[in-house]
Amino acid sequence: MKSRFGFIFLYLLVAGSVKSVTFEQVLDSITPSSYEYMHTNLFVGDGMNRGFTGDLDGSIPRVPAYQHDDARDFIFNQFQEFGLDTSLDPFWFTRSYGATTYIYTNCNNVVAIQPGLATNAQWFIVGAHYDSVDPGQFSELSPGADDNASGVAAVLELARTLGAYHFRHNIIYIAFDAEEKGLQGAWHFVDTHTTNDPLLTNVIQRADVGGVLSLDMLAYNPPGPNQDRVRIYGGNSSSNAPVQAALREALLAWTPIDVVHSGSIAASDHHPFHARGMDACLLIEYNVWSNPHYHRTTDSVDTPDYIDYVYATELTRGVAAYLMYEAGILLPPTLSIVVDDPQDRIQLRWTAQSNATYRIDYADELQLITTWHPLGVVTNDAGAAIVEWEGPRSGINQRFYRVEYLYEP
Ligand SMILES: [Zn+2]
Repeated sequence: MKSRFGFIFLYLLVAGSVKSVTFEQVLDSITPSSYEYMHTNLFVGDGMNRGFTGDLDGSIPRVPAYQHDDARDFIFNQFQEFGLDTSLDPFWFTRSYGATTYIYTNCNNVVAIQPGLATNAQWFIVGAHYDSVDPGQFSELSPGADDNASGVAAVLELARTLGAYHFRHNIIYIAFDAEEKGLQGAWHFVDTHTTNDPLLTNVIQRADVGGVLSLDMLAYNPPGPNQDRVRIYGGNSSSNAPVQAALREALLAWTPIDVVHSGSIAASDHHPFHARGMDACLLIEYNVWSNPHYHRTTDSVDTPDYIDYVYATELTRGVAAYLMYEAGILLPPTLSIVVDDPQDRIQLRWTAQSNATYRIDYADELQLITTWHPLGVVTNDAGAAIVEWEGPRSGINQRFYRVEYLYEP
């Protein structure tokens, strides 16, 4: 059949929102050098620490010390720079060591929220603790380069790259405090900001949480038969919990890392979420149990042949792929445009994602703040498919078009 578009232009698109981006390109924006930048800004060198200090007889509250709050501020500022809704989540707690009970104050989780566009959006939570074990009678002065600046750098890199896109579902990026004191930050978050009570508002309904990941120790990857492997621990013994299976699938599909389901463990920030009925798991380096620098002064970026940025970046890519699948990234569509001048008609064609609605706009000219005028709406009720919109062009000056995923506010 002869096209009735006898006189055809294919416009090169200049509208910023209509660039071509693929799933793989998003993953490729996660790089070892960018990961390293995040990591080395978390105070991970010899002599540094993100723990607490204070009187050891328990008479005076223990407070954050050394580089703890500097790291907190770096995380906060990065989240804000990525355009995320960022806040501190303050708390305090008591904890006993031997016969002495200590009060810990001035603790803060750092929380960044990326709202999803779907009407009944679920929540996906990816977190890592930024505190390290503190010096004194409790343990050595450990910089915590692996435990757990490596997980925090991954969360920051995820926020930097994924934060630039729209998603169907909500994502929370969180840096937990006081994990080394008994998962205190995660317990605080779960018991303060999530609920089973459907009448409570301004808190997260636990039934709406689609998955929770704790990233804890991602950068020790020594040579040997267990190199380039990673462990997933559930909050229960089932390797078939949806979050574990989906994370494993994403890692195997998009990284060269081998994945080993390692059963159940309670010793990281996924545990409070799991204990309150949410689907949560832990991602951790395979060689964690033979890491000679664990909780030592040598858990430092200055220890030779220790921190493996390529490995940690691969793990970060796998987590990104998990979030892109499960939280439903909405990649900007690539448009092809056909204009029929004599008939004063235009046809726009793009690949729509499944069950998505798009709004088509035009502009007479592009400016710093462009005025866009609505042209129409197209809904794709099926799987991913090429869809098109056709309508009157009505005016030689209408040169700029864009198609955007439409959502109900
Ligand atoms: Zn840890």
